[in-house]
Amino acid sequence: MDKYLIVGKNLDSLEKFMTENNQSKYRAKQIYNWVYLKSVKDFDSMTDLPLQTREILKEKAILTSVILKEKQVSKDGTMKFLFELSDGNYVESVLMRFDNRANLTACISTQAGCPMGCKFCATAKLGFKRNLTCEEIIQQIFLIQAQTNLKVTNIVYMGQGEPLLNFDNLLESIKIFREHFQIGARRITVSTCGIIPQINELAQLNFQSTLAISLHAPNQKLRESIMPVANKYKFDDLMMSLKNYTEKTGRRITVEYVLMKGINDSVECAKELAYAISKLKSNVNLIVYNQNEKSPYKKPDKEAIQKFKYILEASGKKVTIRLERGSDIDAACGQLSSRMKSKS
Ligand code: SAH
Repeated sequence: MDKYLIVGKNLDSLEKFMTENNQSKYRAKQIYNWVYLKSVKDFDSMTDLPLQTREILKEKAILTSVILKEKQVSKDGTMKFLFELSDGNYVESVLMRFDNRANLTACISTQAGCPMGCKFCATAKLGFKRNLTCEEIIQQIFLIQAQTNLKVTNIVYMGQGEPLLNFDNLLESIKIFREHFQIGARRITVSTCGIIPQINELAQLNFQSTLAISLHAPNQKLRESIMPVANKYKFDDLMMSLKNYTEKTGRRITVEYVLMKGINDSVECAKELAYAISKLKSNVNLIVYNQNEKSPYKKPDKEAIQKFKYILEASGKKVTIRLERGSDIDAACGQLSSRMKSKS
């Protein structure tokens, strides 16, 4: 019989496992504290559990199914983690510490590979393997914390995959991060390329984490030329859905815009973008394109970036430029391509 996997399970499930094995239900909460708050790596370290309980756990349960294969550290301190899933697929996560802040932000994956096919993104080149389970999403944070002895304070769902296409596991994992890792809703950001039905569902659910939209173009024509998802979900419909989302939840959206030289970085694009989002309660996050040898896309000149920013600011938007992080270890946005290819 397969052993029971603990990390990533919800409390009901673990309580059921404990009672089925003639253990007190309340031990489940103790185990939870050990794994989620103290990141212990084995049952013997759970010193407030009776010996007999620890023996049963060792016999019938395992803590993790995901294996940390490789860790790389960038010059700027950013770390990239390569994980192997139990079926031989790989995913990556990134841990970033922002200067002068106690914040530790983990960027996690929700799918092995990605089905969205954005033309400029390295992950897209992998194709789509499968959705991650909730346990696999949670284990990324567990293993990062256990490996580094650090406590993650912020989570961004901006790794490999499209989170809104793995919707139930996304929501379940956020619930566990909030309730058991004690990471507040506002410290969690979900980034999507714009899957309208699920954005509408988040609006219905009164989602309290931050929603970031990978817009990357100010109109339908340009957007569909670089992001195939725009063929299915049109620019104007997306804008309406986002507007409805901000009205229902009262939350401000983050508009992400990757600046690519000669593609979407012109003054006209900036003006068109400012107009398109003028009525959308939003901040803008400009991302300078992270180049790689294989990609024909390039980063814009500094001047173009500043001009773009200025035009948006002049229209009343708060604009940040996302700092390039970990590019020397291919850990920057859009560079997660799991160099170790999956066996399957
Ligand atoms: N599928 C989701 C989550 C991925 S987030 C989404 O699209 O939002 C990863 C972000 O990095 C996305 O905004 C993506 O468009 C962006 N990106 C992809 N390739 C990039 C690159 N080479 N440089 C900078 N950003 C990139």
